[in-house]
Amino acid sequence: MSKRDYYEILGVSKSASADEIKKAYRKVAMQFHPDRNPGDKSAEDKFKEAAEAYEVLSDNDKKAKYDRYGHQAFAPGSGGFGSGHASNMEDIFSQFGDIFGEDVFGSFFGGGGSRRGGGGGGASRSRGQRGSNLRIKVKLTFEEIAKGVTKTVKVKKHVICTTCAGNGAKDKNSIQTCGTCGGSGQVRRVSNTFLGQMQTVTTCPTCNGEGSTVTAKCSACKGEGRVYGEETIAIEIPAGVQEGMQLSMGGKGNAGERGGAPGDLIIQIEEEPHAELHRDGLNVAYDLHVSFPDATFGSSLEVPTIDGRVKIKIPPGTQSGKIFRLKGKGFPEVQGYGKGDQLVYVNVWTPQHISSEERELLEKLNQSPNFKPQPDKNNKSFFERVKEAFS
Ligand SMILES: [Zn+2]
Ligand SMILES: [Zn+2]
Repeated sequence: MSKRDYYEILGVSKSASADEIKKAYRKVAMQFHPDRNPGDKSAEDKFKEAAEAYEVLSDNDKKAKYDRYGHQAFAPGSGGFGSGHASNMEDIFSQFGDIFGEDVFGSFFGGGGSRRGGGGGGASRSRGQRGSNLRIKVKLTFEEIAKGVTKTVKVKKHVICTTCAGNGAKDKNSIQTCGTCGGSGQVRRVSNTFLGQMQTVTTCPTCNGEGSTVTAKCSACKGEGRVYGEETIAIEIPAGVQEGMQLSMGGKGNAGERGGAPGDLIIQIEEEPHAELHRDGLNVAYDLHVSFPDATFGSSLEVPTIDGRVKIKIPPGTQSGKIFRLKGKGFPEVQGYGKGDQLVYVNVWTPQHISSEERELLEKLNQSPNFKPQPDKNNKSFFERVKEAFS
C-alpha cells in the first residue's frame, strides 16, 4: 500500500509552522468530517489519513523523524507511529478533539477526550493512564532572550520502565487478555426500560478499559510501567520571550502508567535581571551617567546593549534628562518581525566631594553668565520626554 505524503495530505509546505499545520488539519478534518459526510467511506478514509498526518506533523520528534526517513520512520516495529494507530475514530478525537473546540465534536462522540484506556487495534491496546504534565522554570539572560537559545535541562520525572518496556508485566506470559471484556476494554449492557431495550457501552471494570490484565508484575517498576528517573531535554526557546510566558513541549512530561500517553512539559520563562539594562516590553532602558565636562564639550561614550557594547555620540551642551534612542537595539517580537529600541537616559553627574582647589575653580566659573541655568522655552518636561520616547 503506498502512502501519501503527510504534507500533501494537509496541503502545506515542508516549512509550514506548527500553527499553519494545525489550521490546515482543522480545515481538512472539517471537510471530511463523518458528521458532514454520513456513510461516505472515502471521506472517512481521508479524515483518518489527515488525523494520522497531523499526529506526526504536530509532534516535533515524530515530524523530525518523518522529515528524515519518510513513512519508513513509522513502519511497524520501529517504535514510532504504529500501523493502524489512528484508524480508530474515537482515538482521533480523544487525541485531537481539543483543537476543534468542545461544541463541534463534544456531542458527536460523547466527549471522547476524557476516555481512559485506548481503543486502538489488537496488541497496542494496553494503554494505561496518561502521565501528568510537568512544570519547570527556565531562567534566561537578556542576551539569551534577544537571540533565542536552546537550553539543555535535566528533568527529574517518571520515565518508561526499560525492564518491561512500559507494560508493567514481568514477561510476555504474564499479560492476559481480559476475560470480562474479551480484550475490547468495553462491556455492553442491555437493560429494559419503558422505552424498550437500551444498550449501553461502558469501560470494562475488570481491566479498566485496557483489554488485558497483568498476572505477574514487573519487579523494576512494581507493575506501574514507569519509574522515577530523569531525562535530558533540549528546549528551544524562541527569541523575544518574556517573564511569565509559558512554552509547552508535547509528550515531554511524566510518562504514563503502563504505556499511557506521556504528559506535556510546561516551561515557564523567568528573566534574570541585567546588571545595567532594564526591560520595558520590547524596549530596553539604560541610565547613562555623563561627567559635567563631557556633557559640555560633547564626547563619544560606550554603552552596553543586549547585543554588545556600542559607542554613542554625546553632542556638546547635552542636558541631563536628554533621551537618545538606539533604533532596533531592543528585544525582538516573539513571533514577528518587529524590534524594540534602546533608550539611553542622560544623567549629568554632579560631584559630591570636591577639594578646596576645585571649589575655588567652580566658584569662579559660577560667576560666568554661561553657567547660569537657561531653560529652553520649547524644552519639554521630563515627563513629556519619557512619554515621547516610549511612544
Ligand atoms: Zn517495569
Ligand atoms: Zn476488560
